[in-house]
Amino acid sequence: MVTGIASCCLGGYRDDVSEGFQPGGRAPAPPPLDLVQDFVNTEIPEWARDDIATPGLLESWLRGRGLLSDDEGVDAASFVAARELRSALRALALLNTLGRRPPDRALDELRRALRDISLGVEPAADGRLAVVGAGAGAQRALAAIVAVVVEGQASGSWPRLKACRQETCGWVFFDASRNASSTWCSMSVCGSRAKSASYRRRRKASS
Ligand SMILES: [Zn+2]
Repeated sequence: MVTGIASCCLGGYRDDVSEGFQPGGRAPAPPPLDLVQDFVNTEIPEWARDDIATPGLLESWLRGRGLLSDDEGVDAASFVAARELRSALRALALLNTLGRRPPDRALDELRRALRDISLGVEPAADGRLAVVGAGAGAQRALAAIVAVVVEGQASGSWPRLKACRQETCGWVFFDASRNASSTWCSMSVCGSRAKSASYRRRRKASS
């Protein structure tokens, strides 16, 4: 059966997605929050593509972000931890979209993802104390991503980082709208297919 997903998006923008691409003409999250956005968006469920699907790919991704030096690699434990962290951060971003507090299940997932994460504190150029990733190698790189979340929660920018409420999409976008009320990555893609799905349901129910 052809669904709204197939007709509007499958094989759509993911194949030619370039670095920095955002659906709906949105601007990417401002730095450093864009690091978290890009990390979670290494996977979009409906495109069945995962940019960090192997330890080697994760290593290149982290190195490309300046989070790993040339002589550091990704071990099996860090690879598993990265995937747990990505999943937990997507769940948190979805809670931002839905305006809900995390259920126990989400908190447990988050606890698991954070169990080997260590953070440190360093003075920034302006004298402010900044939270930074601690530890070594890939664990430090993952901790650096978590540090951005901590800083974003402290500064108030974090609630604007949202996962698209269309569950097969889940794209993490930065909601720059005045009242921070966006819930779809793109109104014209996921917003309209959600509307047509509910239209189809109503029609079916009334027929
Ligand atoms: Zn979407």
